[in-house]
Amino acid sequence: DQKSKKLGVALVGLGRYSTNELAVALQATQSCYLAGVVSGTPEKRDFWADQYNLKPENIYDYDNFDRIADNKDIDIVYVVLPNSMHAEFVIRAAQAGKHVICEKPLGISSAECLQMINACKKHGVKLSVGYRLHFDPYHQYLMQLSDKVQYLEASNGYTLKDHSEWRMDKSLAGGGALMNIGIYCLQSACYVTGKTPISVTAQATKTRPDLFKDIEETLSFQLQFDRGVSTNFVTSHQLPMNRLMAISEGREYTLSPAFSYRGIGKKYAFEQYKELSQQAAQMDDFATVIRKNKVSSVSGEMGLRDLRIIEAIYEAADARKPISI
Ligand code: NDP
Repeated sequence: DQKSKKLGVALVGLGRYSTNELAVALQATQSCYLAGVVSGTPEKRDFWADQYNLKPENIYDYDNFDRIADNKDIDIVYVVLPNSMHAEFVIRAAQAGKHVICEKPLGISSAECLQMINACKKHGVKLSVGYRLHFDPYHQYLMQLSDKVQYLEASNGYTLKDHSEWRMDKSLAGGGALMNIGIYCLQSACYVTGKTPISVTAQATKTRPDLFKDIEETLSFQLQFDRGVSTNFVTSHQLPMNRLMAISEGREYTLSPAFSYRGIGKKYAFEQYKELSQQAAQMDDFATVIRKNKVSSVSGEMGLRDLRIIEAIYEAADARKPISI
């Protein structure tokens, strides 16, 4: 049977991203399939079991999740929970001997990321972050510009309307727009230049201080590299923005939208590529990483690097001065 050759994935947390994107992408993968789910909501467990024809023994809740260690059908645990829950479930998955994909941000602090990486090393499992844009052809094109990039700017924001959701709760989200979507801007800064920034400056602003109390709403930041490349980034939970622009050898490369699941560069693009499922490509790549015993190009170490950059950005915004990374 074809499924026996594919790696079984268990999605942990059946929210919007699991439901609307990952479950769909899992139907389009070459090397993976949806083998199980982990959910705290009984109705969802029933619905998913029925919808995806899952074996009853492959359905878990958050308490009995550790029993997944005995489940031969599950090769990969994919953590799709609110950010502050990532560390616990990545570590429990590693202890159960399962390879792990964790959604972005890897954790809510660099200390947490380090613990997650160490747990995966200790238990001999692979760890990767759900950085889907690494598998998008437009972003892959920009990666080739590398040390020829002279200027880079990106903006990623939307108007967060449901103020009761976990993204507004610092204890679950770890931060505001930067943790959620600004991470795509700093990701692009690293993969387009092929470098890690050495210092950062940042400025926080609020257009709706009544709504955004203990977490940032809009944050501008500039990353400095060890060579002459100027950068400027903005992220927001209030202002709709979705654009990436690089200047390389005097030529402009703009993607708008830049960070969406679909339709990248629809409004403005330098190339025309066929639409693909970023998430399917991402999961197939992880299957190859496991089978060939390679290090993921979107590794836990990359997730850690990004949390270090995020921590420096918050520090720079607070201190109103440049912070070294
Ligand atoms: P949702 O709020 O839609 O879903 C989160 C799910 O987590 C819930 O449905 C619930 O599932 C479970 N959960 C367990 N405890 C809690 C809690 N205390 N509060 C809320 N939910 C809880 O979030 P998203 O699906 O949008 O995001 C989940 C993760 O995926 C985040 O880390 C986010 O950053 C990431 N993400 C990544 C994207 C990407 O493009 N790579 C896009 C969107 C999100 P259940 O009922 O099954 O227990």
